[in-house]
Amino acid sequence: MPLTITGLTKTYANGVQALKGLNLTIGNNMFGLLGPNGAGKSTLMRTIATLQEPDSGEIWLDGLNVLKEKDTVRRVLGYLPQEFGVYPKISALDMLNHLAVMKGITNSGERKAIVEALLNQTNLWDARKKALSTYSGGMKQRFGIAQALLANPKLIIVDEPTAGLDPVERHRFLNLLSSIGRDVIVILSTHIVEDVRELCNRMAIISSGQVLIEGSPSEALEALSGHIWSKLAASDAELAEIEASRQIVSVQLLGGAHEVRIYSESDPGGGFRHVEANLEDVYFLQIDRHTPKVN
Ligand code: ADP
Repeated sequence: MPLTITGLTKTYANGVQALKGLNLTIGNNMFGLLGPNGAGKSTLMRTIATLQEPDSGEIWLDGLNVLKEKDTVRRVLGYLPQEFGVYPKISALDMLNHLAVMKGITNSGERKAIVEALLNQTNLWDARKKALSTYSGGMKQRFGIAQALLANPKLIIVDEPTAGLDPVERHRFLNLLSSIGRDVIVILSTHIVEDVRELCNRMAIISSGQVLIEGSPSEALEALSGHIWSKLAASDAELAEIEASRQIVSVQLLGGAHEVRIYSESDPGGGFRHVEANLEDVYFLQIDRHTPKVN
């Protein structure tokens, strides 16, 4: 059941062009939408979630016109926004129960079974009677998934879910996402490359409201294979010299020295050694190639 997006544009009232004729096809399973802050990810997610209108373009979900048949889409949609805003003093159990009623699960036996299964799946069973307002960031995100999974969604959208989570909470959350059924589309929007590498079999990188590349992480890595080289810069002067003369992928501090990764189709010499390409290389190169140079 693919989600097909064509020619999506959105210009905000302040003149910011957040989506510039964006095209994307998203199949089942976990899809990673990567892009820097301001790329247009949230605008796209909110538009797919029927929370805002684009200026033009179309979105189809398996024969369903998302922008027109909003109520039908909402019935098969689970949306987890970046921030929920207010966390009430009521318990997770009571809140989920209440939301289940709102979703139309009116049979109390069925509702109890669904709510309990979700609390277990999201590892919140032990904390089910605690007020949501006392939950940690990770627990809130897991509760967000529990509420998104109510009523068996066919499409789940999670927008920047791991920002602000500690590593343990992040892993728990990503494991939870990966446990969601295979016949569901899960769109994970993030600026964290690792989230996509660990979870997604398909991905797109977007920047300035457009798709830069689309495919599987392994295809993207394959395209860079043999072209990434690295060395530790011995001094600031050497670093400056490399930056001036090579195509830099990234510069990272490693034990006090600068590790420089560059792109080169053949052996660049100069003490560089060949290294395996990683998804961050893909991401940095794509973003860099499409960022206007200011010199
Ligand atoms: P991302 O989620 O990738 O960070 P957004 O979709 O939030 O990107 O933002 C894309 C661009 O649109 C940014 O330049 C942002 O400042 C702008 N933008 C987002 N929402 C609004 C809004 N409600 N009004 C005006 N500009 C907005």
